[in-house]
Amino acid sequence: MALHEAGKECYWLRSVIRHIRRTCDLPSVTDNPTTIYEDNVACIAQPPLPLHPLHTLLKTQTPTTLNPIFTSTLFSSPKSTLSVSDPIPIPIPTPDSHIETALEDFHTQFEIPLEKLFVPPETEIKYTESGALSTRILKGSNILLSKYATDAQVTQAEFVKSSVRTEDCPANPLPEFALVGRSNVGKSSLLNSLVRRKKLALTSKKPGKTQCINHFRINDSWYLVDLPGYGYAAAPQELRTDWVKFTKDYFLNRSTLVSVFLLIDASIPAKKIDLEYASWLGQNQIPMTLIFTKCDKRKKKRNGGKRAEENVNDFQELIRGYFDTTPPWIMTSSLTNQGRDEMLLHMAQLRNYWLKH
Ligand code: GDP
Repeated sequence: MALHEAGKECYWLRSVIRHIRRTCDLPSVTDNPTTIYEDNVACIAQPPLPLHPLHTLLKTQTPTTLNPIFTSTLFSSPKSTLSVSDPIPIPIPTPDSHIETALEDFHTQFEIPLEKLFVPPETEIKYTESGALSTRILKGSNILLSKYATDAQVTQAEFVKSSVRTEDCPANPLPEFALVGRSNVGKSSLLNSLVRRKKLALTSKKPGKTQCINHFRINDSWYLVDLPGYGYAAAPQELRTDWVKFTKDYFLNRSTLVSVFLLIDASIPAKKIDLEYASWLGQNQIPMTLIFTKCDKRKKKRNGGKRAEENVNDFQELIRGYFDTTPPWIMTSSLTNQGRDEMLLHMAQLRNYWLKH
């Protein structure tokens, strides 16, 4: 089977699994042994995760025909949670410059082994005569660029509604991406960065303030969804339980959810609660992309003296046991806008594939 076919099948398989779960009344999330805790001392239940078909195929490639290490680049650069009722016109760069900027070399470089790359569905992996990878990688990520990465720019963004139940979410069947992360991870800031507006999402200064499923319609054709932050110790236990319940219900039952974007603070070492969230998503076959935030921050001794890249690598290592393949990940900063174009391109390629299948 060709690799691009494998990518397609992998996605197809996921869709089928999710469809079966939705339609066959399988055990609900409350039956799952893994619990998402609201502090950093809980342990993670560890049932093995299903194997990823694409991983197997990548491993069976003849080593001599592959260059095992490919070089990607780190790079660096608006900020906010919700509001505004009218669509907002947004100044945009030309289509070509959008993609080129996300691919060109920047300053810092790091290496990603082949088996840790994310191959989007129907992506043809090409090599030069010398065996080097010629398929392009999105900067500061492990994501290959596919033919579906078109129409990535945000030209219009509007807040649609806040819902407290999955059933109350917008009914029109547009593809959507959900942003979720620990309180204070920088979710509101990232949302504003993506749509290039300082006030679309009102930056919540009080962690845990956002308690609803908030839908933003982008370009009148897809949704960005802001979910409540987790891990806010000061929130009442009752509320915390509610959030966990309704976000899990949303993940499992929202048929138009293309991928969850799980935000992880790259300026500090990995937190157990983040590892648990990631493992729960993996075990429930919910497509997930890791978004590392605050990558502009310099290392601090009290944080173990690690740079953002090191924390990103450590997080990958820690979740390795829960995923057979590395999930897609992107390094970002809302201060420098690092990773914004890359996130939009990644969303575009997943979205366009989803729409065609
Ligand atoms: P939320 O609670 O997840 O919505 O987080 P916010 O977007 O309100 O951000 C929490 C804090 O982190 C604020 O003080 C932000 O200024 C700061 N912050 C957010 N993103 C970044 C970033 O990319 N870099 C740095 N250095 N600080 C950030």
